[in-house]
Amino acid sequence: MVLRVEQDIFVVRQRGREVAAAVGLEHQDQVRMATALSEVARDLLRAVGGADVIFYAEPRPDGRWHLRVDLVPVGPLPDGRYVPQSGAVARLVDSLGVVGLGRDTVVRMSRRVPVTAQALTPERLAELRTELGRSVPGSALDELTAQNQQLIAALDEVRSQRDELAVLNTELEETNRGVMALYNQLSEELEETNRGVVALYAELDEKSAQLRAASESKSRFLANVSHELRAPVTAIIGLGRLLADSASDPLTEEQARQVGLIRSSAADLLNLVNELLDLAKAESGRIEPTWADVDLRPVFGQLRGTLRALATRPEVELVVEEPPSSAVLRTDEVLLAQVLRNLLHNGLKFTERGEVRLRASRRDEGWELTVTDTGPGIAPDLHDRIFEEFYQVPGTTRAYGTGLGLPYARRLVTLLGGTLHLDSEPGRGSTFTVALPASGA
Ligand code: ADP
Repeated sequence: MVLRVEQDIFVVRQRGREVAAAVGLEHQDQVRMATALSEVARDLLRAVGGADVIFYAEPRPDGRWHLRVDLVPVGPLPDGRYVPQSGAVARLVDSLGVVGLGRDTVVRMSRRVPVTAQALTPERLAELRTELGRSVPGSALDELTAQNQQLIAALDEVRSQRDELAVLNTELEETNRGVMALYNQLSEELEETNRGVVALYAELDEKSAQLRAASESKSRFLANVSHELRAPVTAIIGLGRLLADSASDPLTEEQARQVGLIRSSAADLLNLVNELLDLAKAESGRIEPTWADVDLRPVFGQLRGTLRALATRPEVELVVEEPPSSAVLRTDEVLLAQVLRNLLHNGLKFTERGEVRLRASRRDEGWELTVTDTGPGIAPDLHDRIFEEFYQVPGTTRAYGTGLGLPYARRLVTLLGGTLHLDSEPGRGSTFTVALPASGA
């Protein structure tokens, strides 16, 4: 097409729309393309006096078709550049710009054809070309009428979009109100739940205070009773010793036997009272460990010596392994020895044949001291119970005992910042493990 006089702008516009419709652009895009084309046409007419307008249907490498329009100016563009009068023109098409074609400079624009459009086969293109060639361009008035109709349609669309927006806004407001109501309801429920939780915590605090008080009064009672019992029991033991003394009046055989019974019962009683006192002291927090760097070797040596006297069964061997030279930890030597003596003593009491063994081994950041025996073992469901005060496993207690040794040992180990743990099964012996940090509590 040629563009030389103002009249031609209408024709170019009209043709642009027809071509856009023919290759399959949607209605809105047809109007956009035609509008962009008439704007550029007017610019070129003013700037250089006209142009030749060529339409192309062009396949792109991505397989999509594009409608391309080249406007070849009849004279050179000022500075070889083209800047549209209206900045909005470029937005109407996919691309708009100046390209150099040999010596000519061409203003080129293009718009993508939708994939839904009818396929542009060579036959279809030939058909379109004939169709377009046949149609006679309308007058400027016709094109103005068409343009007016398009404007009215565009205004209509804007209005209906605005109406739609208003409806959406109302809906949104309603949804907002719903969300707010839900939010309020939820916060009320949350507040109520919070109040419940707070009340529950208060009750828990009260209960644990009561428990603490009960446990403290139990410890105090034990401590007082044991303390009060110690003096008379010691007196009985002393008097018994006097009665049996060779310097005293001789006793008949029967009297000597009875005094012996009194003395051994009193010794048992004193033992029990002492253990009760120890436990009460540990529980009331009145035992303060004396911290020092303790080398395990002399501790083990002493245990080996003192416990040999208790290993009276020839079928049971007491083995105290030599700890490595590095076995030094920060702890209370007296309390630790008390715990180990307790465990070894139990092992010797309950083991009929085999061995009772004490060993020290390095574990993570500390030391593990294990007392292993080949005794009767303890059923797993009793592993917690034997650490309760006065509990003794039925059937294993032929040996003398109070049931206070293990709870006391565990108390002491806790004081030293460690744990006392049992591994055992009936018939497979027992292993008590004292795990202590190397650096103290
Ligand atoms: P006691 O030894 O004075 O009875 P403990 O508190 O030391 O009290 O031990 C509680 C109970 O745990 C013991 O009576 C015994 O039944 C069981 N027990 C402790 N050590 C062993 C062990 N090495 N082998 C088997 N049973 C044990």
